[in-house]
Amino acid sequence: MKNKNEKGLLIILSGPSGVGKETVRTRLMKIKDFDLVYSVSMTTREPRNKEVDGINYYFVTQEEFKHNIEIGNFLEYAKFVGNYYGTPMDKVEALRNEGHNVLLEIEINGASQVMSKVKDDRMISFFLMPPSLKALEERIRNRKTESEEVILERLNKGKEEMTKTQNYDYVILNDRINRAAEEIKDLIDKKLNITK
Ligand code: 5GP
Repeated sequence: MKNKNEKGLLIILSGPSGVGKETVRTRLMKIKDFDLVYSVSMTTREPRNKEVDGINYYFVTQEEFKHNIEIGNFLEYAKFVGNYYGTPMDKVEALRNEGHNVLLEIEINGASQVMSKVKDDRMISFFLMPPSLKALEERIRNRKTESEEVILERLNKGKEEMTKTQNYDYVILNDRINRAAEEIKDLIDKKLNITK
């Protein structure tokens, strides 16, 4: 659904660590009609097992990240459980100006920066909610990527995030991944058609 005469849609996907954002994102990216481009973030976090620099994240040092803050390179950035994460601005704008729809998978502080910075109505935001805290904890633990300390910090952060969803357009219950992804797909579809 690329339209060269119109700015691409900016899609924000947030939700607590372990809720399944990446799975939902992967489903959405497969929908050819959406012409969705994933905005690769910059982070100071260490890569996990299979993560690849430039695909999952741009993995940088604290110094590099700070330099990017200083030169105003971020659309938004935030600190999350001891590491910095940020969305490089230039790519997002260039892609949207070319009519591509851009997906940001970011935490809530960054999302609220984007919501106040981006003034056009070509934006839609989703907060993915776990069915329960128990389910969330199971998911984080099953991932086996974090230490006990980090797991607990991420769970606490998740609980906090789940109380601050009021600025999102939609809070989507991730009871079943297929259903949640389908719900988001339908809402994006509607938005793309409505604002055309
Ligand atoms: P993780 O370490 O699990 O990959 O990411 C931790 C959190 O940071 C997740 O909620 C993820 O969505 C968020 N995140 C990833 N990239 C960005 C970014 O560029 N900006 C912000 N604000 N959050 C991000």
